[in-house]
Order: sequence, then C-alpha cells, then structure tokens
Amino acid sequence: IKRVRVIQANASYDSVQVFQTILEALPDPVFVKDQQHRWIYVNQAFCTLLGRRAQDLIGRSDFDTSPEAEARVFWAKDAEVFETGVPNVNLERHTDGFGNGRIIETKKSLANIQGRVYLVGVIRDLTVLSEIQGELARSNQELERRVQEQTAELTRSNAQLQNLAFFDALTGLPNRRLLISSLERRLQEGTVAVFYLDLDHFKRANDSYGHPFGDAMLSALAERLRALPHFSFVARVGGDEFIALTRENLALDRVNLAQICRSMAEQLSKSFLVEGIDTSTSLSIGVAIAPQDGDKVIELLQNADSAMYSAKERGRNQYAFYSPDMNLKARENVEIERGLRRAIRAGDIQVYFQPIVNAKTGKVMGVEALARWNDAELGEVSPTRFVPIAESSGLIHELSHLVLRRALSLAKAHLPLNQRLCVNLSALQLDRMTLVEDVRRALSESDFPAARLELEITESIAANRGERLEHVLNALRDLGISLALDDFGTGYSALAQVQKLPIDRVKIDRSFITDIHTKPKSKLLVEAMIRMAHVLELQVLAEGVENIAQLRTLRELGCDEVQGYLLGKPRDLEEL
Ligand code: C2E
Ligand code: CA
Ligand code: CA
Repeated sequence: IKRVRVIQANASYDSVQVFQTILEALPDPVFVKDQQHRWIYVNQAFCTLLGRRAQDLIGRSDFDTSPEAEARVFWAKDAEVFETGVPNVNLERHTDGFGNGRIIETKKSLANIQGRVYLVGVIRDLTVLSEIQGELARSNQELERRVQEQTAELTRSNAQLQNLAFFDALTGLPNRRLLISSLERRLQEGTVAVFYLDLDHFKRANDSYGHPFGDAMLSALAERLRALPHFSFVARVGGDEFIALTRENLALDRVNLAQICRSMAEQLSKSFLVEGIDTSTSLSIGVAIAPQDGDKVIELLQNADSAMYSAKERGRNQYAFYSPDMNLKARENVEIERGLRRAIRAGDIQVYFQPIVNAKTGKVMGVEALARWNDAELGEVSPTRFVPIAESSGLIHELSHLVLRRALSLAKAHLPLNQRLCVNLSALQLDRMTLVEDVRRALSESDFPAARLELEITESIAANRGERLEHVLNALRDLGISLALDDFGTGYSALAQVQKLPIDRVKIDRSFITDIHTKPKSKLLVEAMIRMAHVLELQVLAEGVENIAQLRTLRELGCDEVQGYLLGKPRDLEEL
C-alpha cells in the first residue's frame, strides 16, 4: 500500500510498471501461464522458490524444473482450471531449486488478458508453518508427558504421606489424626466411650533400659490392646499414650465400663519378656462418654484426658470417669475472658514479629505478626491460651482487628520495602461476610500495599469449609493479598481439598520439624510434604527451626523458607 501511494503520488505512471513493481515486491511466489502451461510471467519470489532466474523460466513448464511426478500433478491441476474455469487451491509437495522438499499451497485461477485466457497462480510456502506446527505438537506431547509424570509423583507422595500421616510407624496403630476422623464419624452415628490410656512410669523404664527396650515394650502393649474385644478402634496418640473407642452396641453404663477398665488393666499389666528382661507396667485410664461428657471430638478427648490425669493424681494404676469439676481450667478460662475483654478495649494487646528467612540465601523475606498480652493480674498469657478463648467468647473479631491494624501500621513504619507481613486469621473470621471489606479498609487506612500482606489460615479450617471458603479466599486474593496454609500437617484435611484452595504457601507445623534431623522417618515425611507442595506449585515454609541441623536438613530437602528461634524469636519490630 505504501508503494502504491508513493507511485500514485507520482503524477505520471505506467500501470503495467506499477503492478509489476507490486508483484515483484510480494513475498509470495506468483506466476502466469499460457494454455500450453508455459510460464509467461514469474515474480522474484517464484524465482527464489525455484532457485532460477526469470529468463530461465519464461517459455518453459513444470517438466523442465520439477521432478516428473510433481510436474504431472501441477500440470493436471492447471488443466482442471483451464477446462472448468473454476479456481482451485491445492496443497502440494514441491521440491525447490535446492532439492529441499517444501509444502506449498497454490491457488490457480483463470485470467482474461487482452482477449486471451491465462492461468494465474499464487503460491504460499507453508513449510515454515508446518515446521512450527510439528514443533508445537512435539512440545504439546512433552507437556503432556510432564503432566503425567507429575501426577504420578503426586500420587506416590500422597500415598507415602497418607501412610506416614495416619499410622504410627512403631506400632502400626492409627495415630491421632485418624483417631479424630474416626471419632468424628462415631459421634455422628451415636454414643461411644473414649478410653484414654497412659502407661505409668514409662519414661523411667525407657530411660533405664534404653529406647529400643521402650519401643519393644510399646509394640507388645499395642499388640495386646488390639486384641481386646471391647474396642473397635485403638490409636497411639503420644509417646506412651493410647486411645481406644468402644465397639458399637456396647452397653455404656458405668458398671460395664468399669469392668472393661479392670480387665484391660489386668491384660495389659501381665508381665512379658522384652530383650530378655521380664517386665510389666501398670497404666492409668480415663474414660469419657459421648454425648453426656461432650459431643465434640476435641472436647471429648480433653475430658478423657482430664479423667486420666485425675486417675494419675490418685496414685496411678487407676481408672477414672470424667466429671465436670475436673476442669479447673474452665474457671481459669472465665478469668482470662474477662481480662482479655478489658485488654482489647484498652488496646493493651501488643504485636511481636518473627522473621521469615529464605532457606537458601538467608535473606529475610518478611515477618509474622504474633499477638502478645501481658496482663497486670494474670501476667504474660500465651496466645495459644487466649486465642481459643477469644474464639469461643466472640472476642476474636475485635482482637483480630486490633492486631491487624497495629501490625499494618508498624510494618508501614518499620518493615523494609522488600519484605512481606504475615498475619494470622482465625477460622471464625472466615465465616464473617465483612472480612474481605475489613481487610481492604485496614490496608487502605494504613497505606500498606496489599501485595506485601499475607494472611495465614490453619489447615483445619481449610478442611472443614467448602465452597464458601474458596469464595472468601478468592476475594482476599483479588485484593492482591497472598495466602498461607498454617500448621500444615496437623489437620486431617484431604490433600485433594488443599489442592483446590487458592493458596500460595504451606507452613509445615513445628511438630514435624522437631526431630527431622534425628529421625529418618520424620525427614521422609517432611520430604514428602515438600515434594507434594512443590508439585502443586506451592511455596514451603518450615516452622519451629531451632538448630542448624534442622536448617541443613530442610535446605537439603529443598524447603523454600524457614522460621524459628534459630533465625529469630518474636520481638518488637523496631528492635528486630
Ligand atoms: P502459629 O501461627 O503457628 O505461630 C507460631 C508459634 O510458634 C508462635 O507462638 C511462635 O512464637 C512459636 N515459635 C516460633 N518459632 C519457634 C521455635 O523455633 N520453637 C518453638 N518452640 N516455638 C516457636 P505464639 O506466638 O505463642 O503463638 C501461638 C499461636 O497462637 C500461633 O501459632 C497462632 O496460631 C496463634 N496466634 C498468635 N497470634 C495470633 C493472632 O494475632 N491472631 C490469631 N488468630 N492467632 C494468633
Ligand atoms: Ca501462623
Ligand atoms: Ca503455625
């Protein structure tokens, strides 16, 4: 078009010359043949395709330039157009002037030039295009192969994780997580009694005879427990702690349950031979019955635990049924709630910050905000104590609001620009419709960029809420905020669910990191978690890193970020 304009601008022009100029400039080969199939015109691109000069082509035909088989095809197509007058478009193989096979598309049609019929051909060289397509198909296959590989990897580490995650490696019994889901199901179905067992003086035996001895003893006891007829489910929930759930249809009256406690104690305290040592142990048992002693999993387990403690206090080798007065804690809770309400109103909650560090480079990537409360009467109260109370008393919203705003304004003032601020969210906040709006407003009031804020939600929340949760998380993300799954590994969420959530990072719970450098099993478990997360394209942060050996192990496993006393304790941001 440019050329035509230039030519048009020139007052006197010769139209043949104009068209010839245009044809010569075209990247596509163009030719004109007479009815004897002889070229009477070829443009520059056509000459290039055939590797010949124009004067060597004019007056000749395809048979002079192409292999016979190809020339026949070209000839036949020409003839079709000459006979029918209907244009045709053909995809053809064509050997170019250099002997290379090319793929071309030729459009042939008739033209009447000064009363004579000619054939006009326009060629498009598709060779490059088809090469690109081939390349595309190949990389598609490659992509598919990788997806398959990753899926297989995912399945593998999932299985590994499930196994390690739900069963105790030593005794082969289910662990706490599996217990929780099993108990949850039983509670939905009806009544059940929870037996909380704790060996007496196990630590002493373990210390004096050594760990292999202790392990053998635990395995033997687990074996006996499993053989008892009253229970449908037995789990190992701590070093020397077991929990058993009564079979369905078992009479849950006290007489019957007391009888079970006695026969259990009798069976388990029989002597046995471990590593040539004849030994026996006694145990303390606490019993809580659903629904009267609690209709929620955690409550029921806590109450069975309280009962077990009071059995121990009464001199061990005892059993006890839960009763409400066992819960001294309950009274304490009331005081804490009162004090907390006061502190929140007075703005007496502080925020400390703990550094988050890149595992490879040691660079500080951000900080996590942690609430601190030092009460005049109660002293320093841990958030593990007051956050649950804030949750059950409804104070959590005010508390969170205070913490978020304080953290944002401190971060705005003191946090280096390349670091992010992480703030914990309570499960209950996610249920509030106003959460997204509250966070948005807090951000804009503090003038802190959303892109540098990360909110942490715990894995157990993620497990229990369905589509609404996804919706809220997406809305938070739309603000530009990133999301981390906190305490990863402690919940019992199906990994498939985690996968669906719009999160950026998982924070592996401290309990998994504690003995990562001493226990191969723990290391394996964390390795599986990291691989899994990476397959899901999530960043991984390990919490509770307290020594160099743990850090080294995590680095070796490809963990992205670390947090813990080794890197820095929570403290005032300005000091930090
Ligand atoms: P979290 O979110 O898992 O926070 C990490 C906890 O681990 C913090 O305890 C921190 O001080 C502690 N920690 C960090 N590194 C180490 C370590 O190397 N070794 C050990 N032993 N502990 C370490 P903290 O501050 O007592 O907080 C406990 C929990 O309370 C938090 O667990 C979080 O779930 C909750 N929490 C704290 N502040 C808030 C808050 O503002 N809002 C909400 N919703 N929850 C909070
Ligand atoms: Ca956290
Ligand atoms: Ca955590």
